[in-house]
Amino acid sequence: MAEINEDAEMQMYQAFLAWQARRAGEEENAMAGRISWWSEDALRAVRAERRRQETLKAEGRFRYTCADVEMTDDERMCVLVEEVGEAARAVLEKRRLANDTHGKELRTELVQVAAVAVAWIEALDKSAVPER
Ligand SMILES: [Mg+2]
Repeated sequence: MAEINEDAEMQMYQAFLAWQARRAGEEENAMAGRISWWSEDALRAVRAERRRQETLKAEGRFRYTCADVEMTDDERMCVLVEEVGEAARAVLEKRRLANDTHGKELRTELVQVAAVAVAWIEALDKSAVPER
């Protein structure tokens, strides 16, 4: 009788360990899938900037955005590096190392860097889709 109880206890303990491991795995997966509020906010800003880029193109301010397949990768790289340069400029201005100031915010410039990169990714993805 005592042996049966020990087996039952061992089975319950093993079931408990299995449940605990499964739960730990689920929590780990949930953590991996979740991004912070800070990330959400940054991604929202990048999405808004992508929309702005397309609006500016529609208004005739640009001929293309980096999402358009008509642009070459060389041209996209120039646009991206220009935005990186503006971010660098914002850092210099923030540190008061630039004599003439443009007044552009570092965050704004970094959002533009990210949005240009997203647009470029869009173009790569469009190019990878076979024409129908
Ligand atoms: Mg800029």
